[in-house]
Amino acid sequence: MLNYKTHSEKVSLIKEGKLSLKENISFFLNQIDEKKNLNAFNFVFNDCINQAESIENKIKQGKAGKLAGMVIGIKDVLSIQDKPLTCSSNILREFKSVYTATAVQKLIDEDAIIIGKTNCDEFAMGSSNENSAFGKVLNPYDNTRVPGGSSGGSAVAVAANLCDAALGTDTGGSIRQPASFCGIFGLKPTYGRVSRFGLTAFASSFDSIGPFTNSVDDAALILEVIAGEDLKDSTCQKKPVPEYSKELSDERKFTIGIPKEYFAQGLNPEVKESIEKKIEELRSKGHSFVNIELPHTEYSIATYYILTTAEASSNLARYDGAHYGYRTKKPSNLNEMYTLSRTEGFGSEVKRRIMLGTYVLSAGYYDAYYRKAQKVRRLLKKDFDNAFSKVDVILTPVCPNVAFKIGEKTNDPLAMYLEDIYKTSANLVGIPGISIPIAKNSEGLPIGMQLMANQLEESKLLLFSKMV
Ligand code: GLN
Repeated sequence: MLNYKTHSEKVSLIKEGKLSLKENISFFLNQIDEKKNLNAFNFVFNDCINQAESIENKIKQGKAGKLAGMVIGIKDVLSIQDKPLTCSSNILREFKSVYTATAVQKLIDEDAIIIGKTNCDEFAMGSSNENSAFGKVLNPYDNTRVPGGSSGGSAVAVAANLCDAALGTDTGGSIRQPASFCGIFGLKPTYGRVSRFGLTAFASSFDSIGPFTNSVDDAALILEVIAGEDLKDSTCQKKPVPEYSKELSDERKFTIGIPKEYFAQGLNPEVKESIEKKIEELRSKGHSFVNIELPHTEYSIATYYILTTAEASSNLARYDGAHYGYRTKKPSNLNEMYTLSRTEGFGSEVKRRIMLGTYVLSAGYYDAYYRKAQKVRRLLKKDFDNAFSKVDVILTPVCPNVAFKIGEKTNDPLAMYLEDIYKTSANLVGIPGISIPIAKNSEGLPIGMQLMANQLEESKLLLFSKMV
């Protein structure tokens, strides 16, 4: 079993000779094998164990990087040179990356050990990890339930002790929701804080890369490693990266906003109660709470699904059978080659999004849908700007409910999309958000709480998360 809670504890144990990195990695590899039924990994890199000795030596000599020996799973939408990159789609089943994503390279440069590629919804589209060409992922707390999505494999890998941490991506909640369903921490950074170079694009103005961890400390540490300017991503923020992991001990008091729109109808009573209990606890520690309004919240889901499908329809045009990925067998002409390659290669949710996106961008509908949604996006930003002029952080549920049953929402895309109700705003306005495990419900299923801060205020967000 693991006898450390944070990475710095792990490193101390290694230094004192109480933990062997090799045994630690083989523990994880065995766990992955034993818990194969969870289906968290698309690919496991068994040979990562060969790095153990040299990294352990570096740790003992005090020459190791910040993440030395941290065993990390990578969502299978991020590139690692010469390794498969499938996005859990048949269209990329045989594809191998030709370069490494900046975020992953930064982990490697700090001596992290990459243990494999984790399962996810196809092209990160989904909230349950049921849309994967590699099969669904099971929730480790109850195998009849979903782990959440789209980064379900990454969340399960951490929650089921298959690795120390994992990278996921969050376009509309795909880090925060599975973290909440699996009882771990999931951090979605400010848009542009982490380079998207080497991340397969879903909706380029929304996509963010972030960590799944067992502690706030590890989330802070990973973020400070992967964040920062990158000349290979022009949307990347240029601001210097604070040492988040060293800013977690301040005792300051926070002003926290509670938006009434996030506690309205539809919120499960047990989830609501746990959050209210937490609020009381924090109030008694001297933090102050104010009621705020985010009046355009009710339009966030519609806005999100118009804009992200529009971007996806354009981004996914590159999978045409000609450039890379799957090509249909024996097409009779060029047009048929394109059509059949895409028809056979993509799963149904991805096709639904491409069609929706093509529709909202088409002549005659562009103004009514796409342009209008862009305007609402601006209004949402204004809502949050107003709120953050009064409060440090905003506190909300992550999801209306705990993990739902496998198959429960697969035939009802609208019900599935509504899962994202509390999460898409952070992506629409580009702010950071974190999911924090705060309780279990009467059936023992994890309940998460979300905190959001203004753009580039991860320091505040993490500091307050540590106090929760
Ligand atoms: N569930 C949302 C969707 O299906 C979010 C996906 C994501 O964040 N990648 O679009």
